Amino acid sequence: MSTYIPESLRNKIANSDKGRCCYCLTTEANSGITMTHEHIQPVSKGGETTFENVCLACRSCNEFKGDATEAIDPLTGETMFLFNPRTQKWSEHFAWSADGTRVEGLTAIGRATICGMRMNNAVIIVARSRWVICGWHPPSD
Ligand SMILES: [Zn+2]
Repeated sequence: MSTYIPESLRNKIANSDKGRCCYCLTTEANSGITMTHEHIQPVSKGGETTFENVCLACRSCNEFKGDATEAIDPLTGETMFLFNPRTQKWSEHFAWSADGTRVEGLTAIGRATICGMRMNNAVIIVARSRWVICGWHPPSD
């Protein structure tokens, strides 16, 4: 679903998120694809188009998230809220695997978000492997 986002808000988000997916940290430079504007709380569930509720997300994260706000932690089976990039710190919930190709969940929220948004899907793993070969170092926050 596409929602109108005023230019001033687009600029604020661009300055804050720096062309990077707020969930899996894929960059526009690596993917060659423009980031989407993701409503953290979906519009369909009353989410507003504000800086606090809209962040950059790659197309993969955006599509897999859909209008979900929760996912299941595969370790405990508990339903957890998805990671909120505006109110939570990435490095408190996620870390990179030693080879830099997989995002690992440090918390129940991290694990549920990775699973629910398929942040380690087969396509992105191949792309990250290539980036690492080219000397790319995975960012954190
Ligand atoms: Zn992403």
